[in-house]
Amino acid sequence: MSSAQTIPLSNRVQRVKPSPTLAVTALAAQLRSEGKDIIGLGAGEPDFDTPDHIKAAAVQAIADGFTKYTPVDGTLSLKQAVIDKFKRENGVEYVPNQVMASTGGKQVFYNLCQALLNSGDEVIIPAPYWVSYPDMVMLADATPVIVSAGIDQEFKITPEQLEAAITPNTKLFVHNTPSNPTSVMYSRDELVALGEVLRRHPQVIIATDDIYEHILLDTIPFCNLLMANPDLYERTVMMNGVSKGYSMTGWRIGYAGGPAELIGAMKKVQSQSTSNPTSIAQVAAETALNGDQSFMTTMNQAFQERNHFVVDSLNTIPGVHCLPSQGAFYAFANVEGVVERLPNISNDTELAEMLLNEAEVAVVPGAAFGAEGYIRLSFATSMENLEAALERITNAL
Ligand code: GLU
Repeated sequence: MSSAQTIPLSNRVQRVKPSPTLAVTALAAQLRSEGKDIIGLGAGEPDFDTPDHIKAAAVQAIADGFTKYTPVDGTLSLKQAVIDKFKRENGVEYVPNQVMASTGGKQVFYNLCQALLNSGDEVIIPAPYWVSYPDMVMLADATPVIVSAGIDQEFKITPEQLEAAITPNTKLFVHNTPSNPTSVMYSRDELVALGEVLRRHPQVIIATDDIYEHILLDTIPFCNLLMANPDLYERTVMMNGVSKGYSMTGWRIGYAGGPAELIGAMKKVQSQSTSNPTSIAQVAAETALNGDQSFMTTMNQAFQERNHFVVDSLNTIPGVHCLPSQGAFYAFANVEGVVERLPNISNDTELAEMLLNEAEVAVVPGAAFGAEGYIRLSFATSMENLEAALERITNAL
């Protein structure tokens, strides 16, 4: 092949783009390695270390030689820890063929899309959305249907909006609370109201993304669609993982609970792709789920302090409007006023570029989350970094 020829890639892969959150993080790391003093507020990963008792369990697993294949869907003891967790924290009961572990929460949703979706199927995704939902839907040849909710409705879709988006082709509804990127939480009443709509459309499978369940910064208790509507059990998949709550992003353990038939199909996809998630990380995840949970209080107190500081600082900048975070560790600021008043900036992507080049602060533009006119700042970094970053952003804007 001459250098002028290009490799004919699949239509599937040409439909999608690399994960923008990971791209921003990689760019910040690259600029830092070139000697630039970049403060990264791009990555959505807790800056706390994985608790020692979890690390110790993994070290012991290596010493014990627990380094071989495990069952594709995870060890029986990890699956039991997942079953116990779902019962204890969510009040939902499963048996072993209804749960599985995967390589991070991302693989859980990827497996679900591959196991469930066909060309022509529609998947309803509220926006602002986490960057990978639409692309994983497209990798399964299905069509994302985006339902937008701006800051004026606190980024939460209404039952009327959901009803209007459902068609005979709707196969899946993905719901995420606390939300990445907006950090808002749905109340039980709001979830009951969405459940009433879903009850009228029995063909729609529901996926709840509960990965931020443990990062709670307000007095709002965690609730998801299934907890608020237990009768939707037969068609709901709960997706979760240890990455955020236990500060274990790199260990890559996600898990799911749902109807046995669907979990079995997801397991089949996994058996033909990655097989089991890492054996050592499974031991660590089991220890995390079964062990002492008290460090979460300390972690959430730190997030809460940063939340106040970041949101208050952003709201002093002319043209910026930001709601306090209720859960998760993101500030999702409306910057339309800034875009309007800065002559050389015409959208949030250009603003994020300007902040990276001039203020040396990495943030993710709202466009990546299907919400132009916003930027996402992760406050999962030290107060010292946040103080410096907000000073630079304030000066630049
Ligand atoms: N979920 C995190 C984020 O939104 C981690 C990166 C990713 O996988 O998207 O930043």
